[in-house]
Amino acid sequence: MGQDEMKMYHKKTLVELSVLLQAGEVSSVELTEYFLARINAHDKNLNSFISVTETQALAAAEQADAAIKNGTAGPLTGVPIAHKDIFCTEGVRTSCGSKMLDNFISPYDATVVSKLKQAGMVMLGKTNMDEFAMGSSNETSFYGPVKNPWQSDRIPGGSSGGSAAAVAARLAPAATGTDTGGSIRQPAAMCGITGIKPTYGRISRYGMIAFASSLDQAGPMAQSAHDCALLLNAMAGFDDKDSTCLDKEVPDYTAELDKPLSGLRIGLPKEYFGEGLDAEVEKVVRGALDEYKKLGAELIDIELPNSGLSVPVYYVVAPAECSANLSRFDGVRYGYRCENPVDLMDMYTRTRGEGFGAEVKRRIMVGTYALSSGYYDAYYLKSQQLRHKISEDFREAFEKVDVIMGPTAPDTAFKIGEKSDDPISMYLSDIYTIAVNLAGLPGMSVPAGFVEGRPVGLQITGNYFQESQLLNVAHQYQLNTDWHRAIPEDFL
Ligand code: GLN
Repeated sequence: MGQDEMKMYHKKTLVELSVLLQAGEVSSVELTEYFLARINAHDKNLNSFISVTETQALAAAEQADAAIKNGTAGPLTGVPIAHKDIFCTEGVRTSCGSKMLDNFISPYDATVVSKLKQAGMVMLGKTNMDEFAMGSSNETSFYGPVKNPWQSDRIPGGSSGGSAAAVAARLAPAATGTDTGGSIRQPAAMCGITGIKPTYGRISRYGMIAFASSLDQAGPMAQSAHDCALLLNAMAGFDDKDSTCLDKEVPDYTAELDKPLSGLRIGLPKEYFGEGLDAEVEKVVRGALDEYKKLGAELIDIELPNSGLSVPVYYVVAPAECSANLSRFDGVRYGYRCENPVDLMDMYTRTRGEGFGAEVKRRIMVGTYALSSGYYDAYYLKSQQLRHKISEDFREAFEKVDVIMGPTAPDTAFKIGEKSDDPISMYLSDIYTIAVNLAGLPGMSVPAGFVEGRPVGLQITGNYFQESQLLNVAHQYQLNTDWHRAIPEDFL
């Protein structure tokens, strides 16, 4: 390998960069400067970052280099990362993609952020996202849409669209995301990267701005399953600041990566391969399944009979929870406040009217309606009952199979603006991911090929706390394919 090729750090996975750092072949300061320069060169057009924290990044990189020199470094020490702007970061603007928090400097770090800091990672900045994580296309952001690095007239997926685009364009080796109904997996699929949403409760939600608390879960987004395993090692674990975070030992997620897949039972839900699935996307997914057969896995047809209910159920539960969570943005405590209010009511109404975008308002109104007395039983209660049925489908399926596979999304990335006036059609892009959140299960998306130059993701869903197995299943595929190594032409 020539000297120049060796210095193409953006062509390396997180795992490869970690090896170079530990061996002293590159310093964290060099790597950090390298990725900051890439952001500088490319992000004006891509718009994947809301804030770039250059000064803090270089200071953190110096500390990381000192740790590597004195032998206290771990595998993530010195590796740059970008955080979705939903995670509170001390002393740094945390906007959640909203005008409401455009001026909000967080006084503390989210647990995810502090854990990755402790592991020695260097934050490059905060990534763009749909406003309050509500969306599937990153078009609801106050900071404007993010472009898909593969085709710039297309959306990157959402709501973690900035994180997905930044990793796909190799402006950062890895990023954090959050997933309430698909927001890690769907943008990962549309940008051709790997992302995992762990079991609900596996990672602390402390300091992660709440959208729908019973569904929200953080997770890593990177190039490979191996990269995600290293990140999950640092992100997972009990936190007494989040009462829904489970006190369960964190395994080493890299330990099972090399397990052979012979005998693995893969369930294929008939509902994930029916009407609404693009024929070309289906071909790509079937190609990935053939690869698994070669690796010794067995494909088993299964049913998830209530999966058709997941989108309607989600669009009652998520808005209901968001209407409660977003009531805190009232102009009193933090964030935006309207100019010259005449009285308290005027301040509340204008602050919220001016501070929130259209999609957020739509959700707050739907949620408030669903929770109002007289309608609560018909909508919210009913949805909770159906949510239980959706979980039961998975429980039964996992008696017969080890993992479930299918497409992450029914189609590849659509054009910017194409679905902006049609919320229902937008909501349907999460049709395969949402049930996994409703059941609280772990799910991941792995690059599996292309349709007309646009990436397609394979979704792998596992039973509760089977993250090690998901990562193993994805890793074995990635040892035998190189879809995850493809880089969009404009970012080579
Ligand atoms: N697209 C879904 C929504 O708009 C999911 C978003 C998410 O997972 N944060 O609610």
